[in-house]
Amino acid sequence: MQRVIEGHRRFHAEVFPARKQQFHLLRDSQAPEFLFITCAVSRIVPDMILGTGPGDLFISRNAGNVVPVNAPEGDGVTATIEYAVEVLKVSHAILCGHSDCGALKAAVNTKALETLPKAKRWLKHVEAAFQHRQPLNPEDGDGAELASLIRGNVIAQLANLKAQPAVAWAMQQGTLAVHGWYYDILSGRIERYDEKLRRFVPLLG
Ligand SMILES: [Zn+2]
Repeated sequence: MQRVIEGHRRFHAEVFPARKQQFHLLRDSQAPEFLFITCAVSRIVPDMILGTGPGDLFISRNAGNVVPVNAPEGDGVTATIEYAVEVLKVSHAILCGHSDCGALKAAVNTKALETLPKAKRWLKHVEAAFQHRQPLNPEDGDGAELASLIRGNVIAQLANLKAQPAVAWAMQQGTLAVHGWYYDILSGRIERYDEKLRRFVPLLG
């Protein structure tokens, strides 16, 4: 605990004063350009991998970067999406999965979920990934099977994201673009799903 208290001490003494003006601009409002939906995993630090900062990303995180199927009662994820699109009017919604994702590992080895009833229930949302498995990529080494499923999950969740009424409407109006990404922890590289080619390609071309 001491580590994070000391971290905050440094932030308050050094970082905050240097960026005071930026934080003051954000005091009463925000206008993020991006909705970023990703896994709860500690190994993705969005602002670090994207070079963004305060006020840039509106973030929703959960195990498996899930977007539940559209349903009238909604939930925390879809309520966040609705707010980001309808009120904040983000221009881009990015759904980002990652290599070695425990949520997809658990979907393969459901035994691991026997003592975790809530996680087990939540991860039913990733089962659609099995229908969208991607071709094996030799660069993924031993993790190729899992990586193909994780990429499949990005495609499955992307479809759920597009089916959210607020998202569908904004896309139709041309005010929102939706993106599916795969972040590789080992190389630090991002791939994007190319809807026309129907495969993942490097984000950096
Ligand atoms: Zn994950």
